[in-house]
Order: sequence, then structure tokens, then C-alpha cells
Amino acid sequence: MTTAIGVVMTEHVVASRLANQRLTGEVLRYPVDEDTPDALSAVPSGDLVDILASQISSLVGKETQPVDAIGVAVPGIVRHGVVEDSPNLPQIKGMRLAAELARVLANRGITAPVHAANDADAIAAGVAATHGHLDRLTRVWTIGNGIGYGRWPYIEGVWEGGHITVTLDPKEKFCGCGGVGHLEGIMGYRAMRMRFLDLEPEEIFANARRGDLRCREFVDLWHRALAAATASFIHLAGPGRFYFTGHNVGFLELHRLRSHLETMVKMGPLQSFSLEVLPPDDEIGLLGAGVAALGAFSLQEI
Ligand SMILES: [Zn+2]
Repeated sequence: MTTAIGVVMTEHVVASRLANQRLTGEVLRYPVDEDTPDALSAVPSGDLVDILASQISSLVGKETQPVDAIGVAVPGIVRHGVVEDSPNLPQIKGMRLAAELARVLANRGITAPVHAANDADAIAAGVAATHGHLDRLTRVWTIGNGIGYGRWPYIEGVWEGGHITVTLDPKEKFCGCGGVGHLEGIMGYRAMRMRFLDLEPEEIFANARRGDLRCREFVDLWHRALAAATASFIHLAGPGRFYFTGHNVGFLELHRLRSHLETMVKMGPLQSFSLEVLPPDDEIGLLGAGVAALGAFSLQEI
């Protein structure tokens, strides 16, 4: 039996144990109160590592079975254990997260290897594991404050799909990274607030349903942008299944996305794509963080 601990740090921290690619036991959460928005944004990076280490120690301490690997997933560009950038958790930018967490854990007597992954990649790994498809390409869009793109199996690269260019309009400049024409500059929550200074994103979508022309046009642009980015990945890596999840996935109308996608993907062999919405769920990412760690240290067949 392989055992692992998965940890996901986004707007909050969650952690759980895995046994044989399934979550087992309780899910720990920080902060415990679900209604604390932006709870981590003001926490210094060293304290964040201590929070992660405390949760992991608590999960390790409850069982006699040793842990084979620890996987931690965070938003941003994560390569070789280093958080190269993280616009939504800027204090961890540049952090050698895997090494730093392993060092703090070693002081607590925990020596299992630590793997760090991008949070959207962890969701893709979790989806693949849940469906028993660890041998297949799985791609996930996470729709939240930022727009994440995750893929399993992991391959070397940056894969910042949320920052793919989907328009040549020079006025499209709302992306948090500062780049012009980016997907996240249209679809991201913060970007929508900057575009509609008088409306919250929820109001934009509600007004569109009531027929407001300005909001309807934007909601169509929102779906066309996601279709354009998805079409680009289909033209690069081929068709297959795309999953959509995240805090704001409720804005997505799959039929509208599909109809735009069908205008953009015309080559016959590429038209066998499929689209599926997954309700936002901490557990998929937790599972994926653990599965990715076991895979990274070659502790299971993948
Ligand atoms: Zn960008």
C-alpha cells in the first residue's frame, strides 16, 4: 500500500491523507472558518510553511503507517520544487517550497520526500486518478480569481494557459500579469471588476440573463475567449476531454462554449473533443497533490 499526504494552498489550506490513491480520513482546513476571504494574503511566507508543516505533522501523527510522499499544490509557476511566480500569493514567489517545507518537517521528525506542484495540475492529476485514467492526457481549466490551466501527466514546461493571448485588441489589458490580450484579462474575477467598475461579476452575468446588451456582449466574449484558448490547446496537443472547475465555474454555459469551439476547430481529426464541468471541490486537488507526489518519486505505477 502506498500512503501520501496531499496539501493544497489557494485561498485557504486543506490537507488530507491518501491510501492507494484515495483520500482517507479527515480533511484539515486553515483557517477553520470557511467565510474568511483572502485569509492567506497577509500571512508571511515563513508562517505559511509553518501552517503547512503543522497540518502535515498532525496527519502523520495520527497513524502508525509511515508516509511515502508529501505533495503540496499552490497557484503559480512551480518548477523543480521552486515557486517561480505566484500572482495570487505573491509572498511565496521565488520560494524553494519543496526544500523549505522538507527542512521544517525534518525538524519535526518527518522525512518523507516533498513534491510541489501547480494547483491546476494537481486538479488534473486528481481527475485522472478519480477516473482511473492516469495513463491518459487530462486537461483542466480552473475558473476563479485567476484562470488556471492544468494537465496530467506532468511534462516539463510552463503551461500558463490563463495567460494565452486570445485577442489582438490593444484595449484588452486587464490581466493581473500586465500582459495585453490575455485570457485571464477577460475571464478572471479581478479583471471583470476592473472592466465593469459599476458592476460585480455576479451582476454582469445576471444582467446578461435579463437581456442587458452590454452584459450580454461581454458574457459572449467571456465564452469566446475560453473557446479560443481551448481551441489553441486542441490544435497543439489534440482533442480529448477538457474539464472545467473552480470557484466561478457557475458562470460557464457549456453549450455556449461548445458552439464557439465548433466554429474554431474544423479539422476532422480534432473534432472529437469533449467538455465536462466539475463542481469545485477541495478533494480533487488534494488527491491530485498526493498522486503527483507519488508519481514524481516513482512510488506507483502511472
Ligand atoms: Zn496575463
